[in-house]
Amino acid sequence: MTQSSHQEIRRLIATSADDLSEAQQALLHAHVQDCGSCRNYAAATAEIVRALRGIPVAADPRLVLITQARVRARAIALRQRQQWLTLVALACPLVGLSAAITTPLVWRAFQWMGAYTGLSRTLWQVGFTFYWVAPSLLVSVLLLFRGTHLADNGNSQESS
Ligand SMILES: [Zn+2]
Repeated sequence: MTQSSHQEIRRLIATSADDLSEAQQALLHAHVQDCGSCRNYAAATAEIVRALRGIPVAADPRLVLITQARVRARAIALRQRQQWLTLVALACPLVGLSAAITTPLVWRAFQWMGAYTGLSRTLWQVGFTFYWVAPSLLVSVLLLFRGTHLADNGNSQESS
């Protein structure tokens, strides 16, 4: 028997029996009957495969459930974040438009009230500025708190 035929047989031994043709299986069987060294090789290979199959690799079902739940929660959070960003993107031009329309009207209203109550020009202008800035400040502070609240939630979820 040639060296190359032993090599070929060992390649067949390493291949899963399901992937061999009938002719290859017959060749392998006949060779292993006559060749002690290839028979030992086949036995050693089968022993290794048996040992590998004996190693438990199945994941703990609880771990699988927890992982699935986390992946789902993360997907939902990402979707909500996307919807939130879309809302913000839609709101920005609307807020800008509404400010452009209402600012001159509110300015006139403050001017009229200033004149009606006899307040100094500086005073009603400060009042107008405060009226105009206060809601933005309030919303900014609320969003800031909401942001830190969300960040805390994320941390506690990841650490648990
Ligand atoms: Zn051989």
